[in-house]
Amino acid sequence: MAQSSRVVVIGGGIAGLAAAAALHLAGRQVIVLERARSLEPVGAAISLSPNALRALDVLGIGDAIRDLAAWQGDGGLRTPGGRWIARTDAAAAAERFGGPLVLLHRATLIERLAALLPPDGVRTDTAAHLADPGDAHRPARVRTPDGELEADLVVGADGLHSAVRRALFPRHPGPVYSGFTTWRVVIPVPGAEFAAHETWGRGRLWGTQPLEDGRVYAYAAAVTPAGQHAADDERAELLRRFGGWHHPVPAVIEAARPEDVLRHDVHHLAEPLPAHHRGRVALLGDAAHAMPPTLGQGGNQALEDAVVLAHHRDDLAAYTAARLPRTTAVARRAVRAARLNMTGSRAGTAVRDTALAALSRARPALLLRGFDGIADWRPPQPPYAATQAGTGER
Ligand SMILES: Cc1cc2nc3c(=O)[nH]c(=O)nc-3n(C[C@H](O)[C@H](O)[C@H](O)COP(=O)(O)OP(=O)(O)OC[C@H]3O[C@@H](n4cnc5c(N)ncnc54)[C@H](O)[C@@H]3O)c2cc1C
Repeated sequence: MAQSSRVVVIGGGIAGLAAAAALHLAGRQVIVLERARSLEPVGAAISLSPNALRALDVLGIGDAIRDLAAWQGDGGLRTPGGRWIARTDAAAAAERFGGPLVLLHRATLIERLAALLPPDGVRTDTAAHLADPGDAHRPARVRTPDGELEADLVVGADGLHSAVRRALFPRHPGPVYSGFTTWRVVIPVPGAEFAAHETWGRGRLWGTQPLEDGRVYAYAAAVTPAGQHAADDERAELLRRFGGWHHPVPAVIEAARPEDVLRHDVHHLAEPLPAHHRGRVALLGDAAHAMPPTLGQGGNQALEDAVVLAHHRDDLAAYTAARLPRTTAVARRAVRAARLNMTGSRAGTAVRDTALAALSRARPALLLRGFDGIADWRPPQPPYAATQAGTGER
């Protein structure tokens, strides 16, 4: 016989845990089903902009995350030889968007989100399958190795290769290769003094950012055919591709062990979905709108999704209306940004760098303008604790 559970969340990444937390705080009975053995995320950092931090404020953990994270923004954009193209300023960013952009380890965010759930709120090692999306007259059904669950609401947060998305929208073409691969490390780099930077070369980029705990988060990307891997190891590949770039890039690579280097090809949904819901199922995070990481917004948008979904929990058409246009616009901007920073031709790179340097001299906040309309987003509801305490609308 089917057991009854009000909200079933498929996927325990940032999107699923945040949605589960928001719905739990909104008074729903929630269970998260995660197919991996643990909630441990990929060993990398994540940047959160004020829009996502405001979503975390709704969940009551915004300030805790701000305290655990490093402020981002002091640094700028460089060429591989080390010339500064444009400078950025953390205080100016905070003033422009009403709060800082921050960087923290993904594990910290996942731990804080999971801690908002009741102890029996997450089942790991549990692959889930949407058996029936349900409708106004019948509940949705989710199959697990332990039996079937009925739900008033199913949250499809099963990531880029979402089976829930395929079940809801079988004609949608799914993800496409974005044209570039990425590498990430989180490591101590003893004695390395450096200014935070992102450096754009020809079809290649590198970023080095400090974390609050003293470690360094470095990321790199390069235009390559999909599915390639270094014949020796990915650290050696980084040395070949970036070893001649300005300080601290070679020092960071030298400090890494081969096993510290994560490599992932990037995919995104080039075609938006017709809706972010069907029947009693809502999609969110990468399942709904996977985008290239060029604006660092995939996880940020997932956090926005979570609080908006909880706000519209009884009206999924309103959820789609609130999220589809926004996430489509942000994803398109991320694709355009990828074209700019992954430009591969010598002439295109020279024009890009010269134009950006001139524009940045004329308008010092040039790089921050890329976040206008994104980082200034505000959630539709006040923090749940404030709602429960009856402090009223903001
Ligand atoms: C190189 C790189 C850098 C990035 N940097 C940033 C950044 O700085 N800031 C930012 O905001 N975003 C960034 N992103 C994007 C961000 O990582 C993603 O948008 C975000 O992690 C998506 O979260 P999610 O929960 O939707 O999906 P996922 O993290 O993929 O989680 C989906 C979960 O569902 C589980 N699952 C799948 N199928 C099932 C099933 N059948 N049953 C149960 N569980 C299932 C999976 O195991 C997984 O745990 C970056 C991405 C990349 C590739």
